[in-house]
Amino acid sequence: MSSQLTKAQSDRLKNLAACTSISVAVILCLLKIFGAFVTDSLAVLSSMVDSLSDIFASLITLIAVRYSAKPASATHRYGYGKAEALSSLTQAAFIAGSGLFVIYDGFNRFVSPRQIADTGIGLIIMVISILATLALITFQRHVAKITKSQAILADSAHYVVDLLTNGSIILSLIVVQFFDFLWFDTLTAVLIAAYLLFNAYDLAKQAIAQLLDKELDENIRSEVIKCAKSFDFIQGIHDFRSRDLGGTYLFEFHLELDGNLSLYQAHHYCNMVEEKILSKYPDAQIIVHQDPAGIKEERLDNKITHNKKKGK
Ligand SMILES: [Zn+2]
Repeated sequence: MSSQLTKAQSDRLKNLAACTSISVAVILCLLKIFGAFVTDSLAVLSSMVDSLSDIFASLITLIAVRYSAKPASATHRYGYGKAEALSSLTQAAFIAGSGLFVIYDGFNRFVSPRQIADTGIGLIIMVISILATLALITFQRHVAKITKSQAILADSAHYVVDLLTNGSIILSLIVVQFFDFLWFDTLTAVLIAAYLLFNAYDLAKQAIAQLLDKELDENIRSEVIKCAKSFDFIQGIHDFRSRDLGGTYLFEFHLELDGNLSLYQAHHYCNMVEEKILSKYPDAQIIVHQDPAGIKEERLDNKITHNKKKGK
């Protein structure tokens, strides 16, 4: 289904997901301000501070999603798609920071175990917060999957932090209360922190790959090359390279054609190749260089193989 989504549809959906997460964070924050007043609970208060940082993080996501949807301009002729990777990188830093804090907090609680300060309203607010966050994450994951948006995926990873930390507060309150299992709290903290750090690493890796123009997956590469080679008049293709501009792909390659063709004919043939590729990747940008077949020239492919042999 993802390939049938147009860029406009995908942009709208990403915008909706970012607005939803801000709304949820604002509502939860208000609820917790109310809860903190009524119960005078420190746990609810610190959870409120957490919701405040959620609003901030989701605002970054919204700005990135809007910015990356802007069409190409005179100063940014490839568009603004990579803004999403930047926001994803910021979120990864947030999540890694939370991971370290969770470890710190977990060991602190080993020294002075958590007391059950609030039942009733405090607990109800925590449960509402967990359920709302769970619904939000489900929606975000769905949007991230069909739009392949890094920013939305990172935003959702950020809410997983809340879900896990809040969930573990309730769980460990119960476990410690009923089973007298004091270090359970610290154990969950270490597990959660490990998960968060791994997640942050994964998000950062994806974002950095895009920012550094990592070559696209081998199956995308070979599909595009196959498109070009499917025509009889194409005698060869080389120096193929590709990158992700943030939601849209850029393909660049040399096509080897009969050197006696007229420029008109060669142009027409290249258009046919481009159209075939665009039928598979509708928003892609394609740059074709035409070579008379058999010409001697310096090639990127050769340089890369050469460097590989030399172990560079
Ligand atoms: Zn060439």
